[in-house]
Amino acid sequence: MIIGKLPHKSDLLRELNRFAKEHEVVAGFVQLIGSISRARLSYYDQKTHAYQVLEFEHPYEIISGTGNISIRDGAPFAHLHLVLSDKDGKVIGGHCLDGCTIFAAEFIIWPFNGPAPRRTLDPATGLLLWEKDSYREESR
Ligand code: ZN
Repeated sequence: MIIGKLPHKSDLLRELNRFAKEHEVVAGFVQLIGSISRARLSYYDQKTHAYQVLEFEHPYEIISGTGNISIRDGAPFAHLHLVLSDKDGKVIGGHCLDGCTIFAAEFIIWPFNGPAPRRTLDPATGLLLWEKDSYREESR
């Protein structure tokens, strides 16, 4: 298990990907909490197979950030979803994109010891999904 914090004013997703690459985490589970000063999320339209980008230029608490790390385009890639709350406690959420600016963020990564899942295009959904149906962790 790896725990840490991400730098103030850095980009949440880029920083998580940079951390995974630097620490050679090629597969794992990610959980994070904290706050961001702006949010950039997306919603995937299942009919058109297109992402709808949602941008919010004000602060949010990160109620829950949950995701995974696997290999996309030959490098560690964090797939992260965020549940955020505003000053009135109203909640929004979505798929995390580059463009979420960290105010403060603490994370936990549980690395996976098995083969790193690789993302490839899934024709049925139009998404880059894991190429195999399942992966099993190797015992050490
Ligand atoms: Zn997603």
